Amino acid sequence: MELQCLPYGAGHTDEGVCLLVRMGPYRILLDCGLRDISPLTANPNQPPADLVLCTHAHPDHTRGLLALHRAFPQLPVYASEVTAQLLPLNWPELEPAAVPLFCQALPIGSPVEFFDGLTAKLIRAGHLPGASAILLTRTAAQDSYTLLYTGDFFLSNSRLADGLALEELRGLGPDVLILEGSYGTARYPHRRNQENQLAERIEAAIRERRSVLLLAPALGLGQELLMLLRSHHHFTGRDIDIWVDSAVATACDAYLEILPHLPASVQNFARHQPLFWDERVRPRVRRLSPEQLGEIGKTPCIALAGKTANLSDYCHPDTGPWLILLPEHPGHPVNLQSPNLQLPAETPATIETYLLAEHCDGPGTTQLIHNLRPMHAIFVHGSPTYLADLTNLDELRNRYHLHSPATGTLVELPIGEKFVQPEVVETHYEGELTEQGTVVTITLPNAIKGDPRWQHFADTGLVEARWQGEELVLRGLSQRELLSQSDRIEVAPEVECCGNCRYYRGQRCWNSGSPLFEFKVTADGYCPVFESVHAPPSTPVASEEDEDEEQAEPQEAEEAEEAEEAEELQEPQEPQEPQEPQEPQEPQEPQEPQEPQEPELP
Ligand SMILES: [Zn+2]
Ligand SMILES: [Zn+2]
Repeated sequence: MELQCLPYGAGHTDEGVCLLVRMGPYRILLDCGLRDISPLTANPNQPPADLVLCTHAHPDHTRGLLALHRAFPQLPVYASEVTAQLLPLNWPELEPAAVPLFCQALPIGSPVEFFDGLTAKLIRAGHLPGASAILLTRTAAQDSYTLLYTGDFFLSNSRLADGLALEELRGLGPDVLILEGSYGTARYPHRRNQENQLAERIEAAIRERRSVLLLAPALGLGQELLMLLRSHHHFTGRDIDIWVDSAVATACDAYLEILPHLPASVQNFARHQPLFWDERVRPRVRRLSPEQLGEIGKTPCIALAGKTANLSDYCHPDTGPWLILLPEHPGHPVNLQSPNLQLPAETPATIETYLLAEHCDGPGTTQLIHNLRPMHAIFVHGSPTYLADLTNLDELRNRYHLHSPATGTLVELPIGEKFVQPEVVETHYEGELTEQGTVVTITLPNAIKGDPRWQHFADTGLVEARWQGEELVLRGLSQRELLSQSDRIEVAPEVECCGNCRYYRGQRCWNSGSPLFEFKVTADGYCPVFESVHAPPSTPVASEEDEDEEQAEPQEAEEAEEAEEAEELQEPQEPQEPQEPQEPQEPQEPQEPQEPQEPELP
């Protein structure tokens, strides 16, 4: 019996994902996101695999496929129908018609037998239209086993892709699960909250007469953002132009071709108005031509561009002020030195990051594993420190055989044999507390500086501490936070506003009972569950009835607003919360909330 996995690309930085799986006599290549496929062409007379299966059309999973096809034209390549249709977007230098049709379409949900005793079944994975997990089953007299590879997956529904349906996989018990761990053990707010927070930041910038440039991966997040801008009540009916660059626009056009495969709510929307291109309704969505590029931004507008767009093409000293929003990439802080992010001096622009996750967070990842109950779990696709956080979780280590191989490291996958868990990478540090008069000092061993995250954490030498249950969580404060604290709005102590609330810390709301929980809020913000920091919480004097009345108003207003929004726009439905795993019932490890990686000011 032979079951092995060799990552040609483990997706740790930007090398892409490419995994060779050996199941008995068969070699299956899962994804081919390599920029340089030379490890696959070492022997020009022998293809590196018998079969290639591709999970979805993002470049970090597909980039190398065309070169691989050219090197081995006989090597069969398969993906879902939608993925096969979106694939040519990865070679923008070629006319779509010039990209050879090397990828054959597979149905979702029905197993296909490729070789004697080897079948593959695609399972919808969320994340991007057409994205699918791959279930491989080997049946032979001597050895039978299953392997599930998730590709990139997302449990929540997004606007243009329904999430992975966990209930269909519950108890599947694959022998091997290969899964992405992009967010490590980090936790983030619900997708809907992320959307609202982003919409609020954009709206606030426009109100301040600034233009907003949003950079995003052209395929996937680009269309999600466009749908958000078209449907959010902050923007509908507003006299604003949304300019879309050619990279994002080309992917939008590709979405129109796959409309019958998009969620029912989107198809319903498209029956009433064009999905993306509509200059008659406000806000107007317009294609940005190269001639217009230097002209926009003199009056406030929104521009949406591919991730590699040059900021200096949009922002000049003679345009109006810009707010530039870059997507957060978990575990990889934005590098402001990269050439496309350089701006001429005197350009009135601020660079910040935004979170609109397309991968599930730490709790979602562990939830998937507990539902599937594999024997082996192999983590790929994520920063190595984030993946190590997952393999170090006791709730996983005690139950499953965990692996996080580097590129080029072969993983043997013994089935049903005794397995010794490899040593944990040390991430727990023992320290000492000293209480001295008015301060408390925490002393930690120097070894803590060995972690690559230390530099970011210790950047300003200032930390924020906050209770989470019985535990104290420490977070390094970034330059940006210090700067924005210095121009913090001064508020008089008697005013009922966030700046005077006992739950206002690090410019965020930490009151889980507040609608603003975990949001960034301004000091002068108002919320219905304000509690003054200046006086100890006293017993409420108002009667219960009064309280109800007081709180009813903002809630009703919010509901009315949402109802209105839904009615007017046939907005895609609220994404469903993924269901809690029913078993095993494991006490949840306390987890640090995910903090956005804030870039430093240029
Ligand atoms: Zn992806
Ligand atoms: Zn990916």
